[in-house]
This record gives sequence, C-alpha cells and structure tokens, in this order.
Amino acid sequence: MDIAILGAGASGLMCASFLKGKDYALIEHNSSIGAKIKISGGGRCNITNKRVSFKNYLGESEFVKEVLNGFSNEELIKWLKKRSCSPVLRKKNQFFCPHSSQELIDIFLKEIEKKKIFLNREIKDVKRVDDVFLIETSKENFYAKKVVVATGGVSYKKIGATEIGYKIAKKFGHEIAPLRPALVGFTVQSEQFWFKELSGISFETVVQVKEKIFKDNILFAHKGISGPAILNASLYWDKGGVTIDFLNGKKVEEFLRYQYKQIVTLLPFPKRFSKLFLNSVGVEDKKIKELKKEDLKRLKLLEKYTFSPAGTFGFERAEVTKGGVVIKDIDKNSLMSKKVKNLYFIGEVLDVTGELGGYNFQWAFSSAVKAARHINDTIRDC
Ligand SMILES: Cc1cc2nc3c(=O)[nH]c(=O)nc-3n(C[C@H](O)[C@H](O)[C@H](O)COP(=O)(O)OP(=O)(O)OC[C@H]3O[C@@H](n4cnc5c(N)ncnc54)[C@H](O)[C@@H]3O)c2cc1C
Repeated sequence: MDIAILGAGASGLMCASFLKGKDYALIEHNSSIGAKIKISGGGRCNITNKRVSFKNYLGESEFVKEVLNGFSNEELIKWLKKRSCSPVLRKKNQFFCPHSSQELIDIFLKEIEKKKIFLNREIKDVKRVDDVFLIETSKENFYAKKVVVATGGVSYKKIGATEIGYKIAKKFGHEIAPLRPALVGFTVQSEQFWFKELSGISFETVVQVKEKIFKDNILFAHKGISGPAILNASLYWDKGGVTIDFLNGKKVEEFLRYQYKQIVTLLPFPKRFSKLFLNSVGVEDKKIKELKKEDLKRLKLLEKYTFSPAGTFGFERAEVTKGGVVIKDIDKNSLMSKKVKNLYFIGEVLDVTGELGGYNFQWAFSSAVKAARHINDTIRDC
C-alpha cells in the first residue's frame, strides 16, 4: 500500500479525510475512532478558536505559523460547514460542535472508507525494509511507502494513549523534548494546603506565569488548584512561581471602605476563602478601623499572591503532553522528517502544544492537512 496512518485520533482522521481515493490504511488499537474527540470539551468538542495565533502555542513560532497558515481556523470551519456541521461560538471565542462531539466523529466516518480503517491493532514497531516501511501490529503486518505518525501524546492512557510515536521517532534518529503533563492542575506545597479545604470553590482571577497572563476562573480542588486559568498556566510552567491576582484587577482598598465592618464581610469572595486567606497571611478578621499598616500590606497579597506549585496532577489528568518530537528535524512545509524520507509526524506527538480553547485540535487538523497535501503531491514519485 502507499500510506499507513498510525492512530485514528484527531490528526490521523483529518489526514485520512484529505487522502480521498488514495491507497492508505488507518491503523488504531482502540475498538473505535476518535476516543479523545469523543470526551473533549465536556462531550461537545472545542474544535477551534475564533482567534488563533502562534502566540497561543508553546513551540517554535515560525514552524507553528507556517503550519497554521496552511489550514486555518476559518478553513476548518468552512470545511465543517460543507459537511453540515456549523460550529457554535461559546465563551472565550471557542467554537464547539453544535450538539455533541459525535457530530465530528460522524463526519470522519463519512469521509473515510470503512475498509481502510483497521481497528483493534496495536502498533508495535515500524521498520525500514529496503525502500518501504514495515508496520508491525498485534494482528497483521502492513507494508507502506509512506508512514504518518499520528499517535498523539501520553496523557489519558486509559483511553488509548501510548508512547509508540516517540519510540518510532527515536528509532529513526529524532530527538524528543522531555515529555510533561500540560493543561493540568497544580499540586501545592504545605504553605498552600489551605487551598485543599476550599475544594469546589471557583472564581475569576488573573493568573501569571513568566510573561504569560490568563484572566479566567480558578478552581480549588482536593489535590490543589485547577480551573482554566491554572490549566493554561501549567503549559508555560516548569518550576518556580505562579502569581494569582485574586481580585481580578481591582485594588483591595476598594473593598475596605466601611470602617465598622469586618474584613471578611467586605471582601468579594466566598467567606470560606476569605477566612482561610486571612489565616494564611496571619491577619485576624477585624473591623476596618482597627486595621494596621502591616495588616493592609498583607491583605495586598490578594492582588499578587505568588506560590510555587509542588507539581501537577500528572499525565492521567492532563489534557495534553508538552514536549515531543523536536521540530528542527521536521520540514515545516510537509511535516516530513528531514532524517527519513516519507516518514511524517503530525498532531500532539510533535513538540508543539496549544493553550486551552480549541488550539490543540486546530494544531492536529492543520498539521494533518499540511502532511496530506504533501503526500497527495508526491505519492507518485515514491
Ligand atoms: C479530556 C480531554 C479533553 C480535551 N479537550 C480538548 C478540546 O476541547 N479542544 C482541544 O483543542 N483539545 C482538547 N484536548 C486535546 C486534544 O484531544 C488532543 O490534543 C488531540 O486529540 C491530539 O490529536 P492527535 O491526533 O495528535 O492525538 P490523539 O487524538 O490522541 O490520537 C492518537 C491516536 O493514536 C492511537 N494510538 C496510540 N498509540 C497507539 C498504538 N500503539 N497502536 C495503535 N494506536 C495507537 C490512540 O488510541 C489515538 O486514537 C483534550 C484532551 C483531553 C484528554
């Protein structure tokens, strides 16, 4: 056969859809396609975003720009609309499937010939035999002139993630940037154990990590802290401090105007949060007229509270894996390996990771289309 696409997730499915009429096999170890699509975006799949820029990605900017430009968010939406799926714009410029993520999966099932999908095959290894590739699976072996590695990252192993893509890349001489969980909550050090007592409380804040700023909700959790602003921060965090403006851009003095009222009653938070916060910074709840200069200085920490996470909730809770196949050895115009002709890498397996908000599906789809177009242009030459 001409092409083997490894993995029937977001990128593999889009790649196959753009290889209409070609001789390919789409190989997947799950018993159905698109497992992550199915559970994404709370079951509605946040397909893309109204505003997509290389700035929303952790990765080499020129490479990311080139790939995104090849199949933009607008082209993706047009493509979906042509197939009777009009994504709906919801919060924060995010486009979702109108009803359920199954709508997107159904589109792929229509685009891809059934006989070309090989489910329940675990990919074990890929070898070069003369000028073709041998793909060994738990059932049969496949021979292909071109191989597209679309096996994704390692997060959410329970729905099929494996390290096979990285193993194949390494085997063919590619470097792998260290794999880390991203778009994930933070565990906390003992100074922030009080976060755990607030499990379930959520409100809007401004979170900063390095030069990246996210204005969105935080969510206190049993294990530490989560919520969209924190998930985004985790993408850019490796070690060191994360700063939260609990007052979401306001000054604490604005809330402390009534001299005869207690601090806790005036702060704009759930009382449980205010009490534990005061306790953590060593300020007793008291009337505003009794506030000392030192108390006010500590209360100002509500505007700029810096803490160093202990770690993250780990790969099993992370929406994505950052790190992966280093892109210096991948051609940005084709997604083909610069080391091994006819070997392609697309989607999350690459060292490019997007923020929360549909950016990771957009990346999966843009990189898939780029590779498919190159394959369409070159399949006769190999
Ligand atoms: C809970 C959750 C929610 C998410 N929500 C969103 C969202 O709303 N919007 C967004 O943009 N992103 C979201 N993401 C991220 C997004 O799902 C991924 O970035 C995207 O699916 C990556 O596409 P991919 O094709 O590279 O990998 P995947 O979609 O993971 O596909 C890889 C495929 O390869 C298969 N595979 C792996 N190893 C083997 C093997 N050895 N043999 C055979 N097959 C194998 C897997 O089973 C899988 O089907 C979410 C992720 C999670 C976990």
